[in-house]
Amino acid sequence: VAPARDRLRIAIQKSGRLADPARALLASCGLTWRESRDRLFCYGETLPIDLLLVRDDDIPGLIADGVCDFGVVGRNVLAEQDAGRVAHDQASAFREWRALGFGKCRLAVAVPEGWSWQGPAQLSGMRVATSYPALLSRWLADQGVAAEVAFLSGSVEIAPRLGQADAVCDIVSSGGTLAANQLKPVATLFESEAVLAGPVAELDAIRGELAALLLRRLDGALRMRH
Ligand code: ATP
Ligand code: ZN
Repeated sequence: VAPARDRLRIAIQKSGRLADPARALLASCGLTWRESRDRLFCYGETLPIDLLLVRDDDIPGLIADGVCDFGVVGRNVLAEQDAGRVAHDQASAFREWRALGFGKCRLAVAVPEGWSWQGPAQLSGMRVATSYPALLSRWLADQGVAAEVAFLSGSVEIAPRLGQADAVCDIVSSGGTLAANQLKPVATLFESEAVLAGPVAELDAIRGELAALLLRRLDGALRMRH
C-alpha cells in the first residue's frame, strides 16, 4: 500500500496533441510549477498540486494504481482501457470526471473508398485493424457482427493497403489521413475529447479538499471558454 500523500498529483501527456492544452488549462486554474530537470515531474508552487508527464496510454493505469489522483487523457483511451478491464472481469478503476472541450475526434470504422456501404453486417467475416480492440469488439458484438479484430499499435490506416486487413477502426478528426489512404469513415463508435479522468470513488481528507478546489476552478475556467 502506497503511503498517504498530502499533495494532489495529476498525470498529463508529456508530448503530443494534449500536452500543451492540458497544461494551459491547469495553468488557467491558477496553478504554477517548478519543472524537474528530467522533465518528468512538475512540482506545484502556488498549490500542492503536482504534474507527472507521461505517455497518454499510461494515464488510466496510473490512476488505477493510485500513483496519480487525476489525469488529462482522451476519452478514447480511457474508454478502451475501461472496456479492456471489463472484458477481463476487472472492476472499473477510473472514470471521467469532466469533459474538457479540446482534443475532439471520433472513433470510427473506415472502409476502402470503393466499397458501397450497406451497414455493419457487411463486416461479417472481415478482418478489421485497430488500436482499440476492446471498444471495437464490444461494438461488433452489439451489432451482432462476427468479424476478426486485428490489433495494431500504430499505422492502422495503412493496413488495408498492405493487405493486413479489410477495414480499420481508428481515431478520425478531419478525415484527411483516411482519405490519403483511400479509406472513408462509415460508422462512428463514439465521439471523443480530452477529459479529466479520476478515481471511481471520491478522494478523502486533504486530497479531497484539494480536488474540490481544483474542480471549482476548473469549472470556472471551462465556463469562461464557452
Ligand atoms: P503518446 O506518445 O503520449 O502515446 P499518442 O501518439 O498516443 O501519444 P496523440 O497523437 O498525441 O497520442 O493523441 C492524443 C489524443 O489526442 C488521442 O488519444 C485523441 O484523444 C486526441 N486526438 C484528437 N485528434 C486526433 C487525431 N486526428 N488523431 C489522433 N488523436 C487525436
Ligand atoms: Zn499514446
